[in-house]
Amino acid sequence: MPVNTEAYQSLKSELDSKNITLVAVSKTKTVDEIKEMYDLGQRDFGENYVQELVKKQERLPQDIRWHYIGHLQRNKVKHIIPFVQLIQSVDSLKLLAEINKEAAKKNRVVDCLLQVHIAQEETKFGLDERELDEIMNRAEAFSFARITGLMGMASLTEDMNKVRSEFRRLKEYFDQYKSRSTVFTILSMGMTSDYRIAIEEGSTMVRIGSLIFGERVKK
Ligand SMILES: *Cc1c(COP(=O)(O)O)cnc(C)c1O
Repeated sequence: MPVNTEAYQSLKSELDSKNITLVAVSKTKTVDEIKEMYDLGQRDFGENYVQELVKKQERLPQDIRWHYIGHLQRNKVKHIIPFVQLIQSVDSLKLLAEINKEAAKKNRVVDCLLQVHIAQEETKFGLDERELDEIMNRAEAFSFARITGLMGMASLTEDMNKVRSEFRRLKEYFDQYKSRSTVFTILSMGMTSDYRIAIEEGSTMVRIGSLIFGERVKK
């Protein structure tokens, strides 16, 4: 399926005017489709499976900034450490420690976002308030896994008031920790269905797939 050039360009100019980073979520999309988006000027791409990401990374231009946005198993961390730009889905202290260990081996500082559980659904991953605070209080111990902000996903619901209040809560956490570090600057929230609300609530980075790549075929 061809990428939606028109949707991409209008989204991109909307985001550029507000200084918001677009991560093009390319999961399930082919190398050719990603290359098409790359040729439009897009450089930040998001993937949520390690194997898929590693395969694509080898075949695509090396100046792409790859974001890891899916649940990350500790035993797979080492595969993405050499090249990943931002791991957005750190959801435990153990995972952060593993990233730190593998990044130290490569002598490479890897930027990470802490994923906060803001949705009502039990199925979603992420830290609760107490776990978030615990990790933030230990952040300085991890000199190769640098925490640069927070990521969250709102509930999958038609109730936009609910979505808004979840994003608002994430923004409150973000503001609470922002003053601790000059590199803590990224608030990643908003996808195809809710990015406008996320932006109104203070998002600095959106992760968007279907709007620009077309609907995904379910695997
Ligand atoms: C798939 C995915 C997105 C993008 O979803 P769309 O609805 O296609 O925009 C964003 N964030 C995460 C974590 C995802 O897994």
